[in-house]
Amino acid sequence: MSSYVGRFAPSPTGRLHFGSLFGAVISYLHARANHGSWLVRIEDIDPPREQEGAARDILACLEAHGLKADKPALYQSTAHTRYEDKLEQLRKVSATYQCPCSRKQLQESGGHSADCINQSRLQLPCATRFKSKNQHYKWHDLYQGDQDRALDEDFVLKRKDGLYAYQLAVVSDDMAQGVTHVIRGSDLIDSTPMQLAIYEALETPPPIYGHFPVLVNQHGQKLSKQNLSKEIKVEQAINNLMDVMTLLGVSLPCSPLNAQEILSYAERHWQQDNLMHRLSLIAPKAYC
Ligand code: GLU
Repeated sequence: MSSYVGRFAPSPTGRLHFGSLFGAVISYLHARANHGSWLVRIEDIDPPREQEGAARDILACLEAHGLKADKPALYQSTAHTRYEDKLEQLRKVSATYQCPCSRKQLQESGGHSADCINQSRLQLPCATRFKSKNQHYKWHDLYQGDQDRALDEDFVLKRKDGLYAYQLAVVSDDMAQGVTHVIRGSDLIDSTPMQLAIYEALETPPPIYGHFPVLVNQHGQKLSKQNLSKEIKVEQAINNLMDVMTLLGVSLPCSPLNAQEILSYAERHWQQDNLMHRLSLIAPKAYC
């Protein structure tokens, strides 16, 4: 094993669909081809958006597809103390502020000011926001190449309703789990400058990022639970994996293979450098 630690971090807002299986396989193969370990984290920090039983179904589905994590899954709902500790660390370095304004109000008023908290508003529920420094964040993305992105938004770390925000939870857990490589869909690339800003404030080196292109349907929409992408059936695990391999350009030998054999074969034939080119050629298809 190398020091590589990768992860797949689904939110249990529904069962896995083909687009999320595709992402899970890429992060798994990326880790295994680098002799790394691979973890699964259930991002259940937003109960109103979650679906009963989805976390259990996701884990069963990953297992049926041979995607075995090296440690038991971490549930974000059990890590609130960690998020509170990180928030405290950020407060100590003056990287946060309390504010009752919505994002729209802040945009309209040109940002946070002393007026946000005047006497009449002191009683209102406040969100904890990250004080961004209007700077650019640069990183080399394993799939998208060199990135240089501005961050001018004071994003939320803890919501007014007391729930921890994704940006805080994901950075806290990636740090706690020793994640070295964050391989996820390009739909999450806009979050990366916010996450880099948190790492910087905490004086901790960030992981390496790779945002692979997400699969889209015939209308150019990302396959997602929101656009009702088809749930995948565990009884068809082998076919599902073969479909993923076709998209990844892995030609499997003809002999019948089980899920584990398909993944091991793909791991041995993983061509990281070709993948971006390969993925850019994928035509939108009816995987939903
Ligand atoms: N939980 C997020 C999602 O399901 C992914 C978070 C991440 O990979 O950083 O979209």
